Amino acid sequence: MFDSITGSIRNAVNKIRHQDDVAALTKATAELKKALLKADVHHKTTKELIASIELQTKNSGIGQDSFLRALKSELTNLLTTSGNQGFVFSSTPPTTILMTGLQGSGKTTTTGKLANYLKIRKKKVLVAACDLQRLAAVEQLKQIAAQIEVDIYFDDNEKDPIKLALAAKEKAIKEHYDVLLIDTAGRLAIDEELMLQLKNVKDAINPSEIFYVADALTGHDATKTATTFKEKIGIDGVILSKYDGDTKGGVALSIANQVEVPLRFIGTGEKMPDLEVFIPDRIVSRLLGLGDIEGLAERTSAIIDEKKAKEVSKKIKKGEFNFNDFLDQLSMMSKLGSMKSIIGMIPGLSQVAGPLKDMDFENSSEIKRIKALIGSMTLKERENPDLMNSSRKKRISVGSGLSEVQINKILKQFKNASKMAKQLSSKGGMKGLQNMLS
Ligand code: GDP
Repeated sequence: MFDSITGSIRNAVNKIRHQDDVAALTKATAELKKALLKADVHHKTTKELIASIELQTKNSGIGQDSFLRALKSELTNLLTTSGNQGFVFSSTPPTTILMTGLQGSGKTTTTGKLANYLKIRKKKVLVAACDLQRLAAVEQLKQIAAQIEVDIYFDDNEKDPIKLALAAKEKAIKEHYDVLLIDTAGRLAIDEELMLQLKNVKDAINPSEIFYVADALTGHDATKTATTFKEKIGIDGVILSKYDGDTKGGVALSIANQVEVPLRFIGTGEKMPDLEVFIPDRIVSRLLGLGDIEGLAERTSAIIDEKKAKEVSKKIKKGEFNFNDFLDQLSMMSKLGSMKSIIGMIPGLSQVAGPLKDMDFENSSEIKRIKALIGSMTLKERENPDLMNSSRKKRISVGSGLSEVQINKILKQFKNASKMAKQLSSKGGMKGLQNMLS
């Protein structure tokens, strides 16, 4: 995610090799300035940042350590704006959020991602389809809600977004939802009609907070439109979408500082789990190539079912890991999000991971074949792959579209992997499972 900017920062740090070398510090800050501007960090922000880093490094004695320390603290300061971090629940539920943004910014997708984020954390969430501007928006939100199994409020006969939003809020109150997320209309560009409509919805609903979804791919424009939304209707947080596609990455560093509203979340992929809370010191750690183990642990612990993990571990030890368990593991892995967004959280891995980053594990041809095979097996066969005889294989071949050779190969691989996992698990716990899935 931060690959190019992290590499440039490292180059800058490497310019300082000797203590008390003013010339080296000048070279390092010049390199840093170039990197930040190239990454699309706002020029004013860059200038201020460089001046503070230079001063702080000089004050504590020039050296690689002091430069890194100054860099870390100034970057963290830059990203820290007064206001809330992540998702904040209001004292009287439902916490009601207006999701705003321009058309195509990722507003509807992000509404789904946020609902998914809250659902994983055991909150009762209602999403409301009040974007009546973009033709497909309501249908899109219906599909997303079905996919993540979250309730949705919509009314295909209601053309007034205010009435829709009010009815959704009434339902959320009556049925004791923890959170109500309202998807609102966007436009291709900012116009008065849009602002007026949003203002009217805001006045009617009195939301707990208003989030503005900004498209990272629009670079400096993301900052400009966010500022306009702040001035016209007031926003409490920015969510930066499509950060995975923004190779420059700098907009995340300057948007909060420029708009003076905290950056609350970033969207890091098209899938529902690809949403991260934006926590300044963790992001700085990743920017400097130091990873974010805390963030990774948080993401995993919200998803992993401890009881199930223990059961699986027991089964592996006994050599009883079967195709049903495999499907469970697969679904758990898909909840973790894209490989790309996970890799940056592990210290040092983003520099060496290379092609792994673009790997779509769930949709790889191997996994698709195994899923096709499992889909055609009976429950008994899934629990006990040893039942598979020639007539069963023939039946499965017709159902799955796989040849018998392919079926035999998968069954053999599964058996070997299960055996290996059993051996490894007796030595190294869950490592066995990891090996089996890799
Ligand atoms: P809306 O008009 O603002 O509601 O936009 P949508 O939610 O329909 O999103 C527009 C497009 O951006 C869709 O194709 C989404 O899949 C895509 N999108 C949204 N967020 C992200 C993200 O974080 N990363 C990537 N790669 N694509 C995203």
